[in-house]
Amino acid sequence: RVRPLTCTETRRGDQQVVHSLGDGAVHVSAARHDATFGFSAVFDAGASQEAVFEGSGMRQLVELAIDGFSCTVFAFGQTGSGKTYTLMGPLAQSESQPASPALLGLMQRSFSCLLEQSRSRGSDLALSASYLEIYNEQVRDLLSPGPPCALPLRWSKTRGFYVENQLSVEFESLEAIVSLLLQGSQRRRTSAHALNRHSSRSHALLTIHIRSRAASACPSKQGTLCFVDLAGSERVKETGSSGELSVEANSINRSLLALGHCISLLAKPRGKRTHIPYRDSKLTRLLARSLGGSGITLMVACISPSSRCLSETLSTLHYASRARRVTNRP
Ligand code: ADP
Ligand code: MG
Repeated sequence: RVRPLTCTETRRGDQQVVHSLGDGAVHVSAARHDATFGFSAVFDAGASQEAVFEGSGMRQLVELAIDGFSCTVFAFGQTGSGKTYTLMGPLAQSESQPASPALLGLMQRSFSCLLEQSRSRGSDLALSASYLEIYNEQVRDLLSPGPPCALPLRWSKTRGFYVENQLSVEFESLEAIVSLLLQGSQRRRTSAHALNRHSSRSHALLTIHIRSRAASACPSKQGTLCFVDLAGSERVKETGSSGELSVEANSINRSLLALGHCISLLAKPRGKRTHIPYRDSKLTRLLARSLGGSGITLMVACISPSSRCLSETLSTLHYASRARRVTNRP
């Protein structure tokens, strides 16, 4: 998804170097670069939030989750490229100031779709949500009250990687789940003031657990729908600065590198695949099933059209092209 140029970029006179060619092709042209990339879909600056929801396959993903699959959508790209906008829209700062419905992101649209389906099925679906962030390689619960504490990540044969003692909150209405999303995002943001630029310094994962209450004949199904807002992918310069910032930068680099590495290996033909190092970071452990296992995954690569972002844009597009070659076995 290519976002529009921002006011600052326009005022500065930045050149627009990214163009959608239609049919899933996107073209990048600048002084010494000229490249075309192909994807399942490309959304340009004019695409509405609704068009992205309908055109990205998000609705099908929600339906598959109801049918018992593990579905994941993740937004990837440099800071300011539109990841949070795509997932949540220009998130309302408070509940008294809700965002315009037309601007709601993939998350709220998926919640509506899910609850509609749930109602039409005579509410035989039990829904619950968990929300966590990975900050400096620590997993923190965004829904449990009180100061954030690190939760252990474990592995079991039946569940794969999972977070121990993670809070899961049941919900039955759109208001309830949107309010959980807001609460969690604010908890993520509160620390932003204390910990410089924290909001883009952590990965946030919201998971909806969908359980079909077994009707007498058919077995009960358990699906998940997970939304991942990744930390900015820009290469953080090794400034040699000590303390918090360099620790943050290192852990983001490490986890995004680990993610990129897993994706590269997964993109190889099955016969040539070696061991996939999911254990290299908390992020890849938590995404293991979505990435290469039995999950169904939608990746939204977010880019800026500005010439100033060229190298990050190319890096995002290459990353996404590799991700596209990964085949899962749902
Ligand atoms: P990120 O989460 O990748 O750091 P944001 O989603 O916060 O980036 O987007 C950065 C800025 O650009 C925000 O002010 C956001 O409102 C704006 N923006 C992003 N994508 C779009 C879009 N498709 N249309 C309009 N504004 C957008
Ligand atoms: Mg963001």
